[in-house]
Amino acid sequence: MIKLTHEENLIADRIKVLKNAAGTHSPSIFTVLEKIPELEIKVDACFLSNPYATDLFVEHLKEKLIDTGKIRDVLEFYPSQNAVIAELLSNYLGINKQSIFIGNGAIEIIQAILHNYTRKKIVVNIPTFSSYYEFLKNNTEVVYNKLLKEENFELNIDAYIELVKKEKPDTIVLINPNNPNGGYIKYKNFIYLIEELSFVNTIIVDESFIHFAYEDYSFEMKSIAHLVESFQNLVVVKSMSKDFGIAGIRAGYGVMSKDRVSSLLKNGYLWNSSGLAEFFFRLYIREDFLKEYEHVRVKYIRETQTYFNKLSKIKELKVYPSLANFALIELLDGTKSDEFVSTLLIRYGIYSRTCNDKIGLDGEFIRLASRTSEENATIIHTLNEIFS
Ligand SMILES: *Cc1c(COP(=O)(O)O)cnc(C)c1O
Repeated sequence: MIKLTHEENLIADRIKVLKNAAGTHSPSIFTVLEKIPELEIKVDACFLSNPYATDLFVEHLKEKLIDTGKIRDVLEFYPSQNAVIAELLSNYLGINKQSIFIGNGAIEIIQAILHNYTRKKIVVNIPTFSSYYEFLKNNTEVVYNKLLKEENFELNIDAYIELVKKEKPDTIVLINPNNPNGGYIKYKNFIYLIEELSFVNTIIVDESFIHFAYEDYSFEMKSIAHLVESFQNLVVVKSMSKDFGIAGIRAGYGVMSKDRVSSLLKNGYLWNSSGLAEFFFRLYIREDFLKEYEHVRVKYIRETQTYFNKLSKIKELKVYPSLANFALIELLDGTKSDEFVSTLLIRYGIYSRTCNDKIGLDGEFIRLASRTSEENATIIHTLNEIFS
């Protein structure tokens, strides 16, 4: 069991203050360093992004915008309107442009859907990404479906269908793979689920981590976004922040019925992308860029799964199965998750996420993201040292 020294405890208290101020999200690495300058952060294993994809984006940004001087245009002029960017994506996604809604990050789409289409009752699986219950209007009832530790936090599809049939909510949310545990619902099970639940008014499927999941060793990703054509109640939410490592530019899109897109656009969201987000979207539809991206995507998935394997060899930790780029980890040696996260940060410069604010988790849990292979090696080395 880990014990902090008096000095470490003082710093740990200051970390807690920052965490509390950030609510159910983590303070960014910049905030932490600004407020606690004596900390040295070597690895940010809190933020869930593919660092190789960030490198790739920055390369293109430098070559196409900075070196050419075109950055001025991107900053000086208005970006394209929502529907224009949607049209750009339409061809690449193979989805009708009128069914695509661009968001200033996926979070804006989540808010728009919950505020406009969720009425009386929602079913949310827990543990989850907190916005799905925090953004709800006051009069919406939330039914929490607890994913069970004994079932490795995997969704029990039949039990879930039964619950939804019994509760009759107007909205349900499925994050695939789920945050914070990385549990994945296979494509064919999804089809079954959506067919069974056709009576639900709004089925939100959040595919923000889908690029990290795979069903066989072709590593092909299986989005269900195209099913919106046949299932008008489906809303697929996609953040670009994690798989492309570009949270700072705020880019996301939603795929939903034409009626929903046009009704959302009637009252706002006209210029909700930035020039940089538009630059990203224009890159995202280019074949040459996607080819390069595919390379770093698969490389990152392979390294991530190797990292999870190494983590799971540490007997004081229970690593839950994940097809995302992070793992939910239970501390088995009696250490509190807050203390563990503080120790990793203060003594070793590794920033991780405590999960003690996540509803639906009984026990001491942390979440560790996968980073570059060097950074992952640092994390493994440190954990082995802690537990040796
Ligand atoms: C991070 C995250 C989002 C929000 O992504 P942004 O595009 O950065 O707003 C949405 N859903 C889930 C499940 C996430 O983890």
